[in-house]
Amino acid sequence: PPTIGVLALQGDVREHVRALEAVGAHAVPVRRRSELDAVDGLVLPGGESSTIDKLLRAFDLYEPLRERLRAGLPAYGSCAGMILLADRVEGAIEGQRTLGGIDVTVRRNAFGRQVDSFETDLSIEGIEDGPLHAVFIRAPWVEEVGPAARVVGRVEGGPAAGRIVAVRQGPLLVTSFHPEVTGDTRVHRLFVEIVGQDRS
Ligand code: GLN
Repeated sequence: PPTIGVLALQGDVREHVRALEAVGAHAVPVRRRSELDAVDGLVLPGGESSTIDKLLRAFDLYEPLRERLRAGLPAYGSCAGMILLADRVEGAIEGQRTLGGIDVTVRRNAFGRQVDSFETDLSIEGIEDGPLHAVFIRAPWVEEVGPAARVVGRVEGGPAAGRIVAVRQGPLLVTSFHPEVTGDTRVHRLFVEIVGQDRS
């Protein structure tokens, strides 16, 4: 099975490890350079993107991870992880940087007070067997998509209908929502497939 790392600086690491193991991957937390070097793919969990950005630099992982992403490391970013993989961010805090990789502009904390956190069903291109239950927690949305990136999911109803919440670009996948908290492992399965295609 592929070895998939979960960036373990901050955020909900354990839930991702569990979901990855459930779909047959070998999942390992990543806090150091040597651990990063050993993975075939990486999950960037939700949490607080500016905090994770600071910790990446404090743990000397920012440059090595950027380089691996540039070299084609498959990565899946959820929520704060989506922000970290985006090329551009609106509403970033002063000094906040991203790793980049996906040709999108994301807006932090986009959904606003009324729907700060909410749940809804939606479908994702590449995921079969019915809609996915999506949990949003102070989530970003994708404000603008460049030519290299492909929209694979949108909010389908309610006040945020039409907002882009899932994007793919080659071996990179990002979602605004948190599939690791629902017990539905189809997003993790899709990512493990992406990692598998990359290795073959
Ligand atoms: N609002 C957080 C941020 O800007 C993301 C929230 C999350 O990951 N659940 O990083």
